[in-house]
Amino acid sequence: MPARTLVLFDIDGTLLRSEGAGVRAMLRAFTDIHGDLGFNFEGMEIAGALDAVLFGRMMAKHGLVGDEDAHSRFLGAYRDELERTLTPDRVRRMAGAGELAVALSARGAATGLLTGNYQSTAFIKIKAAGIDPTHFPFGAYGTDGPTRRHLTPVAIARAGAHHGRAFDPMLVTIIGDTPLDVDCAKAHGCRAIGVATGPYSVDQLRDAGADLAVADLSDTAMLLQWILR
Ligand SMILES: [Mg+2]
Repeated sequence: MPARTLVLFDIDGTLLRSEGAGVRAMLRAFTDIHGDLGFNFEGMEIAGALDAVLFGRMMAKHGLVGDEDAHSRFLGAYRDELERTLTPDRVRRMAGAGELAVALSARGAATGLLTGNYQSTAFIKIKAAGIDPTHFPFGAYGTDGPTRRHLTPVAIARAGAHHGRAFDPMLVTIIGDTPLDVDCAKAHGCRAIGVATGPYSVDQLRDAGADLAVADLSDTAMLLQWILR
Protein backbone atom coordinates (compact mmCIF):
# COMPACT_ATOMS: atom_id res chain seq x y z
CA MET A 1 0.00 0.00 0.00
CA PRO A 2 2.63 2.63 0.91
CA ALA A 3 4.37 1.97 -2.40
CA ARG A 4 1.37 3.51 -4.17
CA THR A 5 1.68 6.63 -2.08
CA LEU A 6 3.37 9.71 -3.50
CA VAL A 7 4.43 12.68 -1.38
CA LEU A 8 5.56 15.94 -3.02
CA PHE A 9 7.47 18.50 -0.96
CA ASP A 10 7.70 22.23 -1.47
CA ILE A 11 11.14 23.66 -0.61
CA ASP A 12 11.13 27.25 0.71
CA GLY A 13 9.30 27.53 4.02
CA THR A 14 8.67 23.77 4.02
CA LEU A 15 11.98 21.86 3.88
CA LEU A 16 14.14 24.88 4.67
CA ARG A 17 14.41 28.63 4.93
CA SER A 18 17.26 30.53 3.32
CA GLU A 19 16.36 33.66 5.34
CA GLY A 20 16.55 36.04 2.41
CA ALA A 21 19.71 34.63 0.85
CA GLY A 22 17.75 33.26 -2.12
CA VAL A 23 16.07 36.60 -2.77
CA ARG A 24 19.37 38.48 -2.37
CA ALA A 25 21.06 36.12 -4.86
CA MET A 26 18.29 36.79 -7.40
CA LEU A 27 18.55 40.56 -7.00
CA ARG A 28 22.34 40.38 -7.28
CA ALA A 29 21.99 38.37 -10.51
CA PHE A 30 19.66 40.99 -12.03
CA THR A 31 22.06 43.78 -11.03
CA ASP A 32 25.17 41.98 -12.28
CA ILE A 33 23.60 41.53 -15.72
CA HIS A 34 21.61 44.74 -16.18
CA GLY A 35 23.27 47.24 -13.85
CA ASP A 36 21.87 48.89 -10.74
CA LEU A 37 18.28 49.61 -11.78
CA GLY A 38 17.01 49.46 -8.20
CA PHE A 39 15.82 45.87 -8.46
CA ASN A 40 13.52 44.78 -5.62
CA PHE A 41 10.54 42.52 -5.07
CA GLU A 42 8.31 45.17 -3.47
CA GLY A 43 4.70 44.56 -4.39
CA MET A 44 5.42 41.03 -5.66
CA GLU A 45 4.18 38.02 -3.71
CA ILE A 46 7.23 35.77 -3.50
CA ALA A 47 6.03 32.94 -1.23
CA GLY A 48 4.65 30.12 -3.37
CA ALA A 49 5.53 31.90 -6.62
CA LEU A 50 7.41 30.30 -9.52
CA ASP A 51 10.96 31.58 -10.06
CA ALA A 52 10.51 31.76 -13.83
CA VAL A 53 7.40 33.91 -13.32
CA LEU A 54 9.24 36.19 -10.88
CA PHE A 55 11.96 36.59 -13.51
CA GLY A 56 9.41 37.62 -16.14
CA ARG A 57 7.67 40.07 -13.80
CA MET A 58 10.94 41.69 -12.75
CA MET A 59 12.08 42.14 -16.35
CA ALA A 60 8.71 43.61 -17.35
CA LYS A 61 8.72 45.95 -14.35
CA HIS A 62 12.00 47.46 -15.60
CA GLY A 63 11.08 47.43 -19.29
CA LEU A 64 13.68 44.75 -20.05
CA VAL A 65 13.29 41.95 -22.60
CA GLY A 66 12.75 38.66 -20.74
CA ASP A 67 13.30 36.25 -23.62
CA GLU A 68 14.79 32.78 -23.43
CA ASP A 69 18.32 34.07 -23.86
CA ALA A 70 17.94 36.63 -21.06
CA HIS A 71 16.33 33.98 -18.89
CA SER A 72 19.19 31.53 -19.26
CA ARG A 73 21.74 34.28 -18.55
CA PHE A 74 19.79 35.18 -15.42
CA LEU A 75 19.58 31.57 -14.28
CA GLY A 76 23.34 31.13 -14.72
CA ALA A 77 24.12 34.25 -12.68
CA TYR A 78 21.54 33.41 -9.98
CA ARG A 79 22.81 29.83 -9.68
CA ASP A 80 26.44 30.98 -9.36
CA GLU A 81 25.53 33.61 -6.79
CA LEU A 82 23.46 31.14 -4.76
CA GLU A 83 26.24 28.56 -4.89
CA ARG A 84 28.68 31.19 -3.64
CA THR A 85 26.57 32.73 -0.88
CA LEU A 86 24.24 29.98 0.37
CA THR A 87 26.59 28.48 2.90
CA PRO A 88 25.08 25.95 5.34
CA ASP A 89 25.09 28.52 8.16
CA ARG A 90 22.67 30.66 6.13
CA VAL A 91 20.10 27.91 5.66
CA ARG A 92 17.70 26.76 8.33
CA ARG A 93 16.41 23.21 7.93
CA MET A 94 12.80 23.04 9.07
CA ALA A 95 12.13 20.78 12.04
CA GLY A 96 11.33 17.21 10.99
CA ALA A 97 11.31 17.90 7.24
CA GLY A 98 14.33 15.79 6.31
CA GLU A 99 13.34 13.10 8.82
CA LEU A 100 9.86 12.84 7.29
CA ALA A 101 11.29 12.33 3.80
CA VAL A 102 13.64 9.63 5.13
CA ALA A 103 10.82 7.88 7.02
CA LEU A 104 8.50 7.95 3.99
CA SER A 105 11.20 6.48 1.75
CA ALA A 106 11.87 3.77 4.34
CA ARG A 107 8.16 2.83 4.24
CA GLY A 108 8.26 2.54 0.46
CA ALA A 109 6.43 5.77 -0.35
CA ALA A 110 7.60 7.70 -3.41
CA THR A 111 8.93 11.15 -2.54
CA GLY A 112 9.68 14.08 -4.84
CA LEU A 113 9.55 17.85 -5.17
CA LEU A 114 6.89 20.31 -6.25
CA THR A 115 8.57 23.69 -6.09
CA GLY A 116 8.72 27.10 -7.71
CA ASN A 117 12.53 26.88 -7.70
CA TYR A 118 14.59 26.18 -10.78
CA GLN A 119 15.79 22.57 -10.72
CA SER A 120 19.46 23.50 -10.31
CA THR A 121 18.86 26.03 -7.53
CA ALA A 122 16.45 23.66 -5.78
CA PHE A 123 19.29 21.21 -5.22
CA ILE A 124 21.77 23.91 -4.16
CA LYS A 125 19.30 24.84 -1.40
CA ILE A 126 18.56 21.25 -0.36
CA LYS A 127 22.24 20.34 -0.12
CA ALA A 128 23.06 23.53 1.80
CA ALA A 129 20.35 22.56 4.30
CA GLY A 130 22.02 19.20 4.83
CA ILE A 131 19.05 17.26 3.45
CA ASP A 132 19.85 14.16 1.40
CA PRO A 133 18.88 15.03 -2.21
CA THR A 134 18.50 11.36 -3.15
CA HIS A 135 15.08 11.42 -1.47
CA PHE A 136 13.89 13.67 -4.30
CA PRO A 137 14.78 11.82 -7.52
CA PHE A 138 12.03 13.60 -9.51
CA GLY A 139 9.93 16.69 -9.27
CA ALA A 140 8.24 19.61 -10.96
CA TYR A 141 10.00 22.97 -10.96
CA GLY A 142 9.41 26.67 -11.57
CA THR A 143 9.93 26.36 -15.32
CA ASP A 144 7.44 23.52 -15.83
CA GLY A 145 4.33 25.66 -16.26
CA PRO A 146 2.87 29.14 -15.96
CA THR A 147 1.30 28.55 -12.51
CA ARG A 148 1.77 26.21 -9.58
CA ARG A 149 -1.41 24.34 -10.53
CA HIS A 150 0.28 23.31 -13.77
CA LEU A 151 3.13 21.67 -11.85
CA THR A 152 1.05 19.00 -10.11
CA PRO A 153 0.33 16.78 -13.15
CA VAL A 154 3.96 17.24 -14.27
CA ALA A 155 5.27 15.99 -10.91
CA ILE A 156 2.84 13.05 -10.86
CA ALA A 157 3.82 12.07 -14.42
CA ARG A 158 7.53 12.23 -13.56
CA ALA A 159 6.92 10.12 -10.45
CA GLY A 160 5.19 7.59 -12.71
CA ALA A 161 8.08 7.58 -15.18
CA HIS A 162 10.63 7.20 -12.39
CA HIS A 163 8.82 4.36 -10.61
CA GLY A 164 7.38 2.70 -13.71
CA ARG A 165 3.77 2.92 -12.58
CA ALA A 166 0.96 5.43 -12.50
CA PHE A 167 0.03 7.25 -9.28
CA ASP A 168 -3.62 7.88 -8.42
CA PRO A 169 -4.01 11.60 -7.50
CA MET A 170 -6.11 10.49 -4.50
CA LEU A 171 -2.96 8.85 -3.08
CA VAL A 172 -0.81 11.91 -3.66
CA THR A 173 -0.06 14.27 -0.76
CA ILE A 174 1.46 17.70 -1.36
CA ILE A 175 3.21 19.40 1.57
CA GLY A 176 3.73 23.16 1.45
CA ASP A 177 3.68 26.38 3.43
CA THR A 178 1.35 28.62 1.38
CA PRO A 179 -2.27 28.63 0.14
CA LEU A 180 -0.84 28.15 -3.38
CA ASP A 181 0.62 24.77 -2.31
CA VAL A 182 -2.77 23.79 -0.93
CA ASP A 183 -4.49 24.98 -4.10
CA CYS A 184 -2.22 23.04 -6.47
CA ALA A 185 -3.09 19.86 -4.55
CA LYS A 186 -6.84 20.35 -4.20
CA ALA A 187 -7.24 21.44 -7.85
CA HIS A 188 -6.12 17.95 -8.91
CA GLY A 189 -7.85 15.83 -6.26
CA CYS A 190 -4.69 15.40 -4.18
CA ARG A 191 -4.41 15.81 -0.43
CA ALA A 192 -2.73 18.88 1.04
CA ILE A 193 -0.73 19.25 4.22
CA GLY A 194 -0.15 22.88 5.14
CA VAL A 195 2.85 23.56 7.35
CA ALA A 196 3.11 26.88 9.20
CA THR A 197 6.90 27.23 8.97
CA GLY A 198 6.53 29.88 6.26
CA PRO A 199 4.55 33.13 6.21
CA TYR A 200 1.11 31.56 6.86
CA SER A 201 -0.43 30.33 10.12
CA VAL A 202 -2.07 26.96 10.78
CA ASP A 203 -5.47 28.68 10.70
CA GLN A 204 -4.76 30.42 7.40
CA LEU A 205 -3.63 27.15 5.80
CA ARG A 206 -6.68 25.32 7.13
CA ASP A 207 -8.93 28.11 5.82
CA ALA A 208 -7.19 27.75 2.43
CA GLY A 209 -8.42 24.14 2.33
CA ALA A 210 -5.53 22.10 3.71
CA ASP A 211 -6.69 18.61 4.73
CA LEU A 212 -4.19 18.76 7.56
CA ALA A 213 -2.48 21.88 8.89
CA VAL A 214 0.42 21.63 11.31
CA ALA A 215 2.78 24.04 13.07
CA ASP A 216 5.80 22.12 11.76
CA LEU A 217 6.78 18.65 10.47
CA SER A 218 8.38 17.44 13.70
CA ASP A 219 5.75 14.80 14.58
CA THR A 220 7.04 12.19 12.15
CA ALA A 221 4.92 9.34 13.58
CA MET A 222 1.65 11.27 13.31
CA LEU A 223 2.44 12.51 9.79
CA LEU A 224 3.43 9.03 8.62
CA GLN A 225 0.20 7.60 9.95
CA TRP A 226 -1.87 10.35 8.35
CA ILE A 227 -0.12 10.09 4.97
CA LEU A 228 0.03 6.29 4.76
CA ARG A 229 -3.38 5.45 6.25
MG1 LIG B 1 7.14 27.50 -0.02
